[in-house]
Parts: sequence; C-alpha cells; structure tokens
Amino acid sequence: MFLVAGACGEQGTGPGTPVTPPPPNDVPAGPFTVGAQYTHASNWIQYTAGDAPLVIIAPHGGTLAPSELRDRDCSACVTVNDLNTQDLARRIAAAFAARTGRRPHLVINLLSRRKFDANRALTEATDGNTAQLGSPWRWMHAVVDTAKADVARRWQRGLVIDLHGHAHAIPRLELGYLLTASQLRQNDSELLSANTLASSSIARLIGDARTTRAPGAMLRGTPSLGGLIEARGYPAVPSPTAPAPLVGEAYFSGGYNTDRHGSSDGGMLDAIQIECHFAGVRDTEANRTAFAEALVDALIELLAAEYGWQP
Ligand SMILES: [Zn+2]
Repeated sequence: MFLVAGACGEQGTGPGTPVTPPPPNDVPAGPFTVGAQYTHASNWIQYTAGDAPLVIIAPHGGTLAPSELRDRDCSACVTVNDLNTQDLARRIAAAFAARTGRRPHLVINLLSRRKFDANRALTEATDGNTAQLGSPWRWMHAVVDTAKADVARRWQRGLVIDLHGHAHAIPRLELGYLLTASQLRQNDSELLSANTLASSSIARLIGDARTTRAPGAMLRGTPSLGGLIEARGYPAVPSPTAPAPLVGEAYFSGGYNTDRHGSSDGGMLDAIQIECHFAGVRDTEANRTAFAEALVDALIELLAAEYGWQP
C-alpha cells in the first residue's frame, strides 16, 4: 500500500533556484472569471480562478500518460505519483468554497509524474524534454503567479498550499517550510538568533506586524497550521506535540513550489507544503472528504487570526 501511495521526495531544491521568466506566449490570457476553468493548450495543466487569499497546487496527482511524451528516466527523477492528491485538492477547494462563498485558486497538473514533475525546476521537471513540456511548465507557474498577484492586489497577503502525499513510516502530516529537520530541532531562541525563520517559506507571516505571536508559534505553536490541524484530529510535524522530526525520522521540508511561491525571498504570499500520509487522509473518498473539511476549518481560522481575512 505504501508503495502505491507515493513517496514524493519534496525537498532539496533549496533557495535561490534560478527562475526562467515565461515568454509572452506562455502567459495565460486573462481576465479570469471566478470559478471558471482554464487549461493550457496541451490540456495538461488546469487552473480554476478564485477569489480568496488561498492558492492550492496539486503537482503530483495527475493521471494522464500520453504516449506522445516519453517517460522521465533521469537517475535522480522520482516518478511515483502521490495517489489521490488531485482529488483531495479538488475536495479542499470545494469545501472552502462551500464554507466561505469564496473560491481558492486551484492549479492542477493533470500529467502523471512519470511524464512530468510539477514540483521541480524546468530541467528535472521535464527530464530535458522542454520542446513538449517547457510551455506547460511555464504556463503552470505563470497561472500561480497570476493568482498570487490577484491575492496580493486585494489583500496584500495570502497563502499558497502545495499538496502532496508521503509514504514515510510515521502516519502524520509533514508540513514543509523550507526548514530542515535539524533546523527544526533548534529551539526558538536559536532559530531567532540565527535569523533562520527569515529563510522559511512563511517569512512574511512571521515578520508581519499584524501577528503578536512569538516567532516559533507560527511554525509549531497552537496557532500554527500544525497546531490547528492537530487540534482537529490529524497529527502533524511541526506542531505543539511534535515540534520537530526526531533524529532518524524521515521528513520532507518543502520543494520547488514552496521555495518559488512562498515568502522566503521576499514574496508577498507565504507557502506551506503539506505532505499527507495515506491511511485516514487520502485513501478513501470518505476520508478525503473528512480531511478536506478539517483542513478548511483550520485554514479559515489561520487566515482569520493571522492574515486578517474574513470571508
Ligand atoms: Zn509529491
């Protein structure tokens, strides 16, 4: 079961990955209508326009494997999908809209990871096949940029969620902020004195004057996403009960999308990578629905308390 559930390898790109600006023909044509679905000319990347300060990306839940695309076979390439995460992302977006009357922006990679990895820099994402996949890759990031710009224009601040599935031994959500397990094992004053939190993907949230929280609180305290989702019955790391992975415990710290689309380098929006375990979260339809409801509940509380957003 764990093999098919997906092992996603979402870390290690590090900050500073060069970003190729999209050529004009890879910029999606707007304006966008809230709730309408837009698809890249290839039909491989899909964007649903939103009107909430939340952007959800599902990069590893695609199932299309067109024969016109060769399989990625680079030695470092991970090709296993994060099972059911596309459906989970759609349920989260729908639950958020049902609760608030506002839609998150939703960006879905429809291709199997065997063909395209939508959480990697261009060369690894496409395994060098930029002739066929360069344009979808650029379009995907262009729609995320468009969504982020819309959020920033309306509210100045907001959150990007990059949704994944892991197959690690401990069944808990792994929340990635671009901080390594050993960095998370430092106490808050050590993190502060080294200015480590400024390089996290929620640097803006932590630094914003709106929050009067202790800095570590937004990472793993009661008001953090880990605290809020744990309070709803889903164990998570980092969180109040598990402030850091222990030595030897597997942990995904955040990948390309979290790095590119978060606030580690001054971006307007924060980003959090959510790596979901399988059983009880994304295995059955009922569990996906229940988790989507719980996560939406937690996100609404987070957006209200820390981003000043009310539906
Ligand atoms: Zn993944």
